[in-house]
Amino acid sequence: MKPYAYPDQNGHFGKYGGNFVSETLSHAIEELKEAYAHYQNDPEFIREFNYELAHFVGRPSPIYHAARMSREMGGAQIYLKREDLNHTGAHKVNNTIGQALLAKRMGKPRVIAETGAGQHGVATATICARYGLECVVYMGSVDVKRQSPNVYRMKLLGATVIPVESGSKTLKDALNEAMRDWVANVDNTFYIIGTVAGPHPYPMMVRDFQSIIGKECIEQMPKHLGSDKQPDAVIACVGGGSNAMGIFHPYIPFENTRLIGVEAAGEGLDSGKHSASIQRGQPGVLHGNRTYVLQDDNGQIIETHSVSAGLDYPGVGPEHAWLSDTKRAEYVGITDKEALDAFHYLCRTEGIIPALESSHAVAQAMKMAKTMRPDQSILVNLSGRGDKDIGTVADLSGADFYCRPSCRGESVKGGQVVEFKR
Ligand SMILES: *Cc1c(COP(=O)(O)O)cnc(C)c1O
Repeated sequence: MKPYAYPDQNGHFGKYGGNFVSETLSHAIEELKEAYAHYQNDPEFIREFNYELAHFVGRPSPIYHAARMSREMGGAQIYLKREDLNHTGAHKVNNTIGQALLAKRMGKPRVIAETGAGQHGVATATICARYGLECVVYMGSVDVKRQSPNVYRMKLLGATVIPVESGSKTLKDALNEAMRDWVANVDNTFYIIGTVAGPHPYPMMVRDFQSIIGKECIEQMPKHLGSDKQPDAVIACVGGGSNAMGIFHPYIPFENTRLIGVEAAGEGLDSGKHSASIQRGQPGVLHGNRTYVLQDDNGQIIETHSVSAGLDYPGVGPEHAWLSDTKRAEYVGITDKEALDAFHYLCRTEGIIPALESSHAVAQAMKMAKTMRPDQSILVNLSGRGDKDIGTVADLSGADFYCRPSCRGESVKGGQVVEFKR
């Protein structure tokens, strides 16, 4: 096994990553770097982090053999890492706990966060309620509408949700706004970033907190596969890339395991309406680091699209850019339609309602399994549950059994139940 020790001490993954922030933030970043360098090796910090993961989140999350689905695909065995079973419904909470524990130790009483699908906002609001921290969440106004159950959840948990009206009114704009808040309130405020993006040390720190996912898999998979076997492929969806880095990172030294990241191909990789930053982007600087960015010839950020709010981001964590260039990981695209089909398929076949983000990874597993042998195996990171998405799915399916607040008073298709054909 080859040793892997990235990033370097300045946060570089090859030519990616680094630290592109204004003068006003450099002090806060230094402070954070020092705190993380100290506490990541502090036995009391590690003990509290592990305690919270076990007793508040419910870890370890199980790995489930999707036997019916595997049989129907007629190829490789498909296993699901059940991050959807975590408290708050996704992998996001792993990272949120780590950063909130740092905030407490650094004496910052106020926490801010950005959110797309609302999962990171909910996880942050949850943990702030638990630790008695003030919580402000920035969310694009488009996402506020399409993820309204999560907005209400955050409010129930005592957080303030600020809708962002600039730009495309989605995740990147929420991130910009949160950065602005941080600059203005840096003395008493800790910024909990929800993915492996942002300036160093965030991409490394978030990856480290999320690596619990892959570490558990390395223990759990041999129990399913026998002897000391690991899966032939690990698949995860990539928005900013935190659930993917969390499961990929411990697997990097296992060279017989392919690592496959799934970007949102939206209406198609060549339609101009997607969020495939690695496959269709160019190197550039976004949100404090160098990475692949969806931009035009003048360096202007291109509007992105995905049916899933959590993948709708024009950049990607710098470590993914590096893993792609070095070919240790492969990156593919799954369209909105393929993801929706996989969503319905998993509901009907395995009794699991997946997040639309995670459905992209499931769709890729379904495609690949057919090309592999039954004695081979695929491990999918099922990053979250789909409760938050049922309004979106119902709208797209023309069903009226679930009515979002936004559709009240309008006429909707009567009496139709979603018909899903295998
Ligand atoms: C936020 C989210 C994602 C995308 O974020 P990553 O940082 O790429 O993991 C994927 N799945 C779910 C369920 C999410 O909530």
